[in-house]
Amino acid sequence: MPIVRLPGLIDPHVHLRDPGATHKEDFKSGTRAAIAGGFTLLLDMPNNPGDPTTSPAALARKKDAADGRLFCDVGLYYGATSDNTDTYNEVLHGVFGLKLYLDHTTGDLKIDRLETIREIMLAWPPHKPLCVHAEDRTLAMVLGLLPSVGRGVHICHVSQKVEIELIRDAKERGLPVTCEVAPHHLHLTEDDLPRLGGHGVMKPPLYRARDIDALWANIAVIDMIATDHAPHTLEEKMSDPAPFGVPGLETSLPLMLTAVHAGKLTLDRLVEMMYSAPAAIFRTPEQPDTFIVIDPTATRVIDSRALETKCGWTPFDGMEVRGSLVSVVLRGQEIVRNGKITSERGLGRAALPLA
Ligand SMILES: [Zn+2]
Repeated sequence: MPIVRLPGLIDPHVHLRDPGATHKEDFKSGTRAAIAGGFTLLLDMPNNPGDPTTSPAALARKKDAADGRLFCDVGLYYGATSDNTDTYNEVLHGVFGLKLYLDHTTGDLKIDRLETIREIMLAWPPHKPLCVHAEDRTLAMVLGLLPSVGRGVHICHVSQKVEIELIRDAKERGLPVTCEVAPHHLHLTEDDLPRLGGHGVMKPPLYRARDIDALWANIAVIDMIATDHAPHTLEEKMSDPAPFGVPGLETSLPLMLTAVHAGKLTLDRLVEMMYSAPAAIFRTPEQPDTFIVIDPTATRVIDSRALETKCGWTPFDGMEVRGSLVSVVLRGQEIVRNGKITSERGLGRAALPLA
């Protein structure tokens, strides 16, 4: 297949760790990883260890930390706590959505009380995305709340058979729900854990082959791909217990192109899941004269040593994949050539949602 030009990809779910845990990743290294992976816009999650984005002051600190250091455009999310609904009006126009944590993960933002969860869902304006970390029974609870709160939700990183089936059924019954899946949940199972050790520890965890099969069988139900890029240092991942999360910005496009090559989805569907759907659902601003050029069938081997992410490892090290990134052009300027970043200066900007 000849080389192909695609829109700059959008990743709606990353953890750049800045500010608060910049030994893991920061705005510069994380956005370099993004651009090297074909993403020209990403949306950063609020659960920064040490400095969660749950107040107007924390949001301002994050904007300051990003200023002048971005290699791709970055938009931000706000984090829900049990007592910050009164700050929503102040931050609303500066963020792409609210993130609500209903299960245990990195950080301390988990909310348990049903009454509080319902209050948050009612307080965040219905026209703004509400992203929810809700696994297993918690997902059923969130879907059950939809008729009461009269708003939509976006379900993050769906990973189990029963979850994608619940979402499929909810959509069929007309409930306002969208969802994303991370490439690691489409390519790894719990059988990979002995080999991966700490590098296979993530939240949601890896499940069985039947779960992967169900995700692929319901690929039409999945609105978008999100990397859930969640880096930790090599040393941290060797500790016991290892912290949750794996990097994904530089491996997601090749993994998905490998799936295209295997006939699991079309290239058009990949563009829908990695550009059109996140752009429409999160109302991202247009990036004029921005595109990527790929060679969809070129083969290469993923090499941890060649990564831009500060963490310097990936669970996919040594895997042969399809697809190489020939070029990335951001607002008319080429910033990646033959897979390598050509500029020392970042061309990225702080992104704001469309009104
Ligand atoms: Zn996440």
